[in-house]
Amino acid sequence: MRAPFTPARPTEREQVQMSAADNARHTSQPTGSGTPPGGEVPSRRARPRVTVVGTGYLGLTHAVCMADMGHEVLAIDVDETKIAKAVTGEAPFFEPGLEPLLRKNLDNGKLRFTRSFAEVGAFGDVHFVCVGTPSDAEGRADLSYVFTAVAALAPHLASECLIVGKSTVPVGTARQVMAAVRAKAPAGDRVDVAWNPEFLREGFAVRDSLAPDRLVFGVASEYAADLLRRVYAAPIAAGTPALVMDLETAEIVKVAANAFLATKISFINVMAELCEATGADVIRLAEALGYDERIGRRFLSPGLGFGGGCLPKDIRALCATASGLGVGSLATLLRTVDVINMDRRRRVAALAREAVGGDLAGKRVAVLGVAFKPDSDDIRDSPGLDVSGRLAREGAAVSVHDPVAMPNARISRPDLRYADSVSEAATGADLVLHLTEWSDYQAIDPAALAKVVSRPVVIDARCALDARLWRHAGWTVHILGRP
Ligand code: NAD
Repeated sequence: MRAPFTPARPTEREQVQMSAADNARHTSQPTGSGTPPGGEVPSRRARPRVTVVGTGYLGLTHAVCMADMGHEVLAIDVDETKIAKAVTGEAPFFEPGLEPLLRKNLDNGKLRFTRSFAEVGAFGDVHFVCVGTPSDAEGRADLSYVFTAVAALAPHLASECLIVGKSTVPVGTARQVMAAVRAKAPAGDRVDVAWNPEFLREGFAVRDSLAPDRLVFGVASEYAADLLRRVYAAPIAAGTPALVMDLETAEIVKVAANAFLATKISFINVMAELCEATGADVIRLAEALGYDERIGRRFLSPGLGFGGGCLPKDIRALCATASGLGVGSLATLLRTVDVINMDRRRRVAALAREAVGGDLAGKRVAVLGVAFKPDSDDIRDSPGLDVSGRLAREGAAVSVHDPVAMPNARISRPDLRYADSVSEAATGADLVLHLTEWSDYQAIDPAALAKVVSRPVVIDARCALDARLWRHAGWTVHILGRP
């Protein structure tokens, strides 16, 4: 049996400050609670060797940043094209700052890629599982990728190691993974499982991975906690709090964080509706609310609402979990948050219809932005793409521009037209829709753009354009929640 783990109280915050010397001493001569069953040393290596399973938005960034922290990292993905790109130093997706760091760590040999689970199993002391957990047809998290990945890895785990889940999963998953892995791994109970949810934000993923605002270690043994502290020694030494807790709490932390953020966005969006109904200004309202430290200004930006590969699916999965567990009040809250959010898309489409005189058929609409957020090429559950699709369904000729997300959008929505520049998208347009708040769009010269459109009418669904400037240049400007 492993040394028993004493769960931290939920409020307890463990701030571990480890100097490099402390860390070396700690890792080369582990004792006490860090010693695994049979008195074996968790890893005799000064630095545990790290593997990353799944090299998508989360996994590739994690692999690169782990290597940049000095670890030897081996990464695997079942998508051969992703691996083929990554080995040449090309990130298979857009993430600011990722490619230079990828190339640096390929060049210095810290980061390697493989297609072999046998190699991964033989190499790693700590295996990070970073595969996707999309929604299934009922809105629950589809855990098939997680269980397929650990099933592929388990037969190759011949010696003691730690599997660390980073994917966002429903509470209870870690213990199921532990049972599944131990049943299949030659090392049996000497394989431990921890959950270390990830809070990185696309667009800031490198920064968030190298200097996270907190680390959450869901563990079932001191051995796992000790190994995770060693893996994250660099950010911990730099002051990042490491919160050690039981597996279930760690799983819930991630979905609770996303549920809170989603609720905050939907809250300000219903306030935007109130403002529209009363002639009030939601931006000034958000500003005034945000000065209250208990509320804060962030995630209080009204507009088209949230999308992407995390928030929508995570609140739906949590809603399903809550329903299954009989926590009806949470399910009701999340369902409402989701409905409010999806309603923003319908609302923008309705506003677009009104703005062109009540019928979109045959109208030319320019869409600025289909990435689910700026500084990303991610179009998963993109509000901008959703609205574009709604308008196209009503017969509008939609011409889309996005600084980086067009290749992904083209694959997902081949029926839309794609333009290489804002001006090309807007040429002859009856309406311009601003749907993703890229800084490029805030720098548009509205006077120049007015010359190419058919009618200078813009809907700013992100409340991010300088309305005074646009109006001064002759535009009719509609802003959600603003007079
Ligand atoms: P993604 O789809 O970009 O990446 C998942 C990767 O896993 C893909 O490259 C896929 O090919 C690979 N994969 C699937 N099955 C595999 C297997 N059996 N073996 C090896 N690789 C396999 O998804 P993502 O955005 O990186 O998200 C991954 C997880 O991280 C999700 O649970 C998500 O909720 C969570 N998360 C994502 C973010 C984010 O910003 N993207 C942030 C925090 C948490």
